[in-house]
Amino acid sequence: MTDRSCDVVVIGAGTAGLKAYKAAVARGADTVIIERGAGGSTCTRVGCMPSKLLIAAARTAHQARGAARFGVMTGPVEIDVPAMWARVRRERDRFVASVLEEYHAIPDTQRVHGTARFDSPDAVIVDGTRIVARRGIVIATGSRPIVPDGLDAVRDLVHTNDTIFELDTLPRRMAVLGAGPLGLELAQAFARLGVEVSVFDPGQTIGGLSEPDANDAAVRAIGAEVDLHLGVTADAAPCAGGARLSWDGGSVEVDLILAATGRKPVLDELDLAHTGIERDDKGTPVFEESTRRCGDSHIFIAGDANAWRPVLHEAARGGRIAGDVAAGGTAHRTLPALAIAFTEPNIVQVGTDVDDLPEDARIGRAQVCDNGRAAADGHDAGVVRLYGDRDGTLIGATIVAPEGEHLGHLVALAIDRGMDAATFADQAWYHPTVEELLQSAARDLAGIAD
Ligand SMILES: Cc1cc2nc3c(=O)[nH]c(=O)nc-3n(C[C@H](O)[C@H](O)[C@H](O)COP(=O)(O)OP(=O)(O)OC[C@H]3O[C@@H](n4cnc5c(N)ncnc54)[C@H](O)[C@@H]3O)c2cc1C
Repeated sequence: MTDRSCDVVVIGAGTAGLKAYKAAVARGADTVIIERGAGGSTCTRVGCMPSKLLIAAARTAHQARGAARFGVMTGPVEIDVPAMWARVRRERDRFVASVLEEYHAIPDTQRVHGTARFDSPDAVIVDGTRIVARRGIVIATGSRPIVPDGLDAVRDLVHTNDTIFELDTLPRRMAVLGAGPLGLELAQAFARLGVEVSVFDPGQTIGGLSEPDANDAAVRAIGAEVDLHLGVTADAAPCAGGARLSWDGGSVEVDLILAATGRKPVLDELDLAHTGIERDDKGTPVFEESTRRCGDSHIFIAGDANAWRPVLHEAARGGRIAGDVAAGGTAHRTLPALAIAFTEPNIVQVGTDVDDLPEDARIGRAQVCDNGRAAADGHDAGVVRLYGDRDGTLIGATIVAPEGEHLGHLVALAIDRGMDAATFADQAWYHPTVEELLQSAARDLAGIAD
């Protein structure tokens, strides 16, 4: 066994790991980063970016098909499937290359290839080398898809986000298991590319929406494009040329199954038992949000590995925080939660969720069908719910709306700045924009007449 020491060790060179490395180096720490895979990141290889590239193709087809309502005649819309996939992968590869460039800019001496596992709370072992970290170790090992049990008989037809973007063709019919944000985004995209899509979820809500009006609006809008089977667990069995999914009350034959049934942190090979850190009932280390520190140890955890807000900007920020604090920095503030599903309409959750509102919370409401810009652009589905505390200070929002992604950012900023609904309503809201939905909801929350 060879021995080596440094100030900070970072495990994983995805988004969180690379940001942690840079933050630690910026504090002057001698930092080593360990990566076992090909590099790149989940976001660029199999996550945010290929999914948004597929959605961009699907949206273009959808808009072309819907052009006639504006008096614009396009003729029949056809998908050139090889060209469509070629663009997805070409652009995806450019995003991957830019992350690899960031990784390879790290000096060879500071980059170690292999699978890291803990030997003690302050040391890891990689391929026969024991690396002791004088100041801290950052776990940034990401997450992997969960494939539900019961799919063994049709295993060859089952895809996850790890494989779906490698298709060369489009199936005629597909099933998506899971109506969370990732499943819904891809379900709607494939439907818009001409695939008959059936979505199954044992719950009654989609996109993680617990606000009933928002959920109803999303179900109506997205359910018009895909077959939504909510409250349903389907059994899969092989049939001629594909799989038959059966449930109490029906069955459907499909060529392909996409499992979008959640993700779990990649922690199993880390030998966390050697660290002594506290873990929750799922085995995930317990950590403090403002530092990403696990208890009073010198171990930090950032990105999807900590199962808290598994979205890209939190992975990046969490990595920066963990690397900074590991190298001697102090606590950082926690931002309001922000999660966006890039369906149309967008599904957006900001800050406190409706289920966690205090009893005396105030709610402001607006309807997409009352918004002039949405009407001009041909959209009418969706609602905005803005949440305030008893004094009207903004604490959260649920948004199902066209361009809702932009509305979500404004609400997150307002919450972070401690803004109250009356002040938020009294901003420069340009007309006609979908942003005016926020002004209407804020006025409603603050009790200001229109
Ligand atoms: C289909 C899909 C769509 C998504 N869309 C969005 C979106 O639109 N917006 C958004 O904000 N988020 C989105 N996300 C979530 C986002 O991609 C993740 O939150 C983010 O990429 C997580 O980054 P990370 O650094 O935690 O993990 P990763 O990028 O996965 O990095 C982890 C790294 O650790 C390495 N590793 C693991 N174990 C070890 C070990 N023991 N030793 C050495 N190396 C190890 C791995 O090889 C990997 O390179 C999406 C995710 C998916 C799956």
